[in-house]
Amino acid sequence: MPQSTDELMQNEVFGYAGLDRVGKICGWNRAAELITGYRPEEVIGKNVCLFFTPEDTALKVPDREMERALEMGKAEDQRWHLKKDGTRFWAAGAMTVSRDADGKVVGLSKIFRDDTVRKQTEDHIKSANADLNRFSYTVAHDLQQPLRTLTTYVELAFRKNLHSFDHESKEYVRIAVDASKRMRALISDLLALSKSDHKAELRERVDCNAIFEDAQANLQEHLNTARAVIAHSTFPTLPGVGSQLVQVFQNLLENAIKYRRPDVKLEIRVDAIHLPPFWRFSVSDNGVGIADVDKERIFGAFERAHSGKTESGSGLGLSICKNIVEQHGGTIWVESNAGHGSTFFFTLREN
Ligand code: ADP
Repeated sequence: MPQSTDELMQNEVFGYAGLDRVGKICGWNRAAELITGYRPEEVIGKNVCLFFTPEDTALKVPDREMERALEMGKAEDQRWHLKKDGTRFWAAGAMTVSRDADGKVVGLSKIFRDDTVRKQTEDHIKSANADLNRFSYTVAHDLQQPLRTLTTYVELAFRKNLHSFDHESKEYVRIAVDASKRMRALISDLLALSKSDHKAELRERVDCNAIFEDAQANLQEHLNTARAVIAHSTFPTLPGVGSQLVQVFQNLLENAIKYRRPDVKLEIRVDAIHLPPFWRFSVSDNGVGIADVDKERIFGAFERAHSGKTESGSGLGLSICKNIVEQHGGTIWVESNAGHGSTFFFTLREN
């Protein structure tokens, strides 16, 4: 980014608008001209609202931006602006206070860059993802009913003819029923994945102790079967969507159970530490661990690192966790000692 006003005036990438204290334009560089189409003589003396959209001007966005810059020394912003021909460009910009040699505020400098192509690409990807999400939700949702019917009728036919089925036929039915159960689990994960992609409305405050208890209760049978020992700290109350956060704990605990070592007593430790403005949670196990090469990719949809070793699993659990955590403003990652255990970390905002 250029430094002095002289440098700014020559710059052909970063637009520069010099403003007085009430927003009247008094400086306009070459890049500002190239980006907006306005020549200096067409804007000097006019109010900066000239290149804000009418909606933003009506909402007093330019005034608020100037007030913020005057108060804080700097105001950053990204929004649509107007060109001379009436079309819009996406500007990533910053407004800073300009001072004279004695440090007295004499006006403001608005520096901006035309980021329209990046914004359009991002919007395009977002909209394509939303379409894909809607599509997978609809397909998964509509598959539930025929699958339920199929399973019910296979089981009915089996029960009715139990006496006449030989060993081989019984085995065929068992395989069909198992496959339909796996498909049901996959569909339910796909539905959960589509739902987890929506921006979380962080209106309620959620007691994470209760959330953790719910997740454990949902897995009680599995935890008992695995004879898991769980130790944990106390957890904070945070803004979030309760049902989604239960899902995060549940998926991580379920994985600790699934990827345990058969010859080692399963021990799970769940902690939360305060790292303002976040709380960082960790779920540690002493299971099979994860190789370095797999640590990032396992958070992608359908990515599995131990497929074949366990039948159950769609490869969607961690991507659901990732979506939920990110929609709550946090991040998720794993540290692992392959062969000895893993610790999944995730952060949640404290407000
Ligand atoms: P799934 O368990 O259905 O395969 P996930 O998205 O929950 O899908 O996990 C992706 C992969 O990450 C798993 O297939 C497994 O290889 C690995 N993984 C997840 N959790 C653990 C864990 N606690 N220990 C070892 N590997 C794990």
